[in-house]
Amino acid sequence: MKRRYHKCHFCGGAVAERKVTVDYRWGKDLITVITEVPTGVCDACGEQYFKADVVKAMEKTARSKQKPLTVLQVPVRPLKVA
Ligand SMILES: [Zn+2]
Repeated sequence: MKRRYHKCHFCGGAVAERKVTVDYRWGKDLITVITEVPTGVCDACGEQYFKADVVKAMEKTARSKQKPLTVLQVPVRPLKVA
């Protein structure tokens, strides 16, 4: 299925579909890293655009009970800035 994207909302650049990895946050402290996500990426500024069908598929994938490819440990730290 070929998805079509409008020009970039921010800079007017051309948006082309690429496969990206998304850190998908859901629930209070749950994150699923989802690979191979078809995403519209602006050639000029890098802004990303997700189609509705892809967002729905990510929601489903995040909650999947299937065995994951791997499980990562993620450090959590507060920002220290002056
Ligand atoms: Zn752009």
